[in-house]
Amino acid sequence: MEQKEIHLNALLNGNKISLLELSIDEIGDEHISTGIETPLRGDAFDMSNKEKISKIEFHFKEIMETLGLDLTDDSLQGTPLRVAKMYVEELFSGLSPLNKPKVALFENKYQYNQMLVEKDITFYSNCEHHFVPIIGKAHVAYISSGKVIGLSKLNRIVNYFAKRPQVQERLTMQIAKELQSILGTDDVAILIDAKHLCVSSRGIKDNSSATVSSFYAGKFSEEKTKEEFLKYISLNTSY
Ligand SMILES: [Zn+2]
Repeated sequence: MEQKEIHLNALLNGNKISLLELSIDEIGDEHISTGIETPLRGDAFDMSNKEKISKIEFHFKEIMETLGLDLTDDSLQGTPLRVAKMYVEELFSGLSPLNKPKVALFENKYQYNQMLVEKDITFYSNCEHHFVPIIGKAHVAYISSGKVIGLSKLNRIVNYFAKRPQVQERLTMQIAKELQSILGTDDVAILIDAKHLCVSSRGIKDNSSATVSSFYAGKFSEEKTKEEFLKYISLNTSY
């Protein structure tokens, strides 16, 4: 499988990239994002979920009607409401800080001071440029600085940030920064391997390519530790 490596240096510096000189198609097809934070307006949560759902339902109906679809058809009638609920309550639920996983940490009683790797975390996200799915696997690792986290919380954190309109670089960085902050350590590594449906089903229509992004900090910046992490995630485990 052909893969392309994404370099995150521009994002790492937290610099805003100016997109003013690019056309909307260029920004979308190149999947360029402006920074680590999801661009949300200050009034993003002034409206209730119920209000959001009814507004999206109204507008999605307009889209369908504009496309010429007959909304009196039994099969299509409920679609605007279904889409609206799915957007607010499921696909984009990670926009709301209220849905952020509550994480309890435990004392590292067994003095386990090696890396812990949670690999093959399946996630479903959506491209913020085209609103079509990104499907992938995330592999995350950390070295305890004295506290340990429940394993399922790692999956939940990945999925919380995936449930937003995303670009892969930002998803990678948001998960990494959250883990560093919760775990109180720099020693975090992330590797994400994902398929973008906007690349495979439209535009360039490349069905075989995948996108890999990575983040290494603290001890994972050392070649030996990084290699160990990569070795663990490439282990072919069948249970
Ligand atoms: Zn896209």
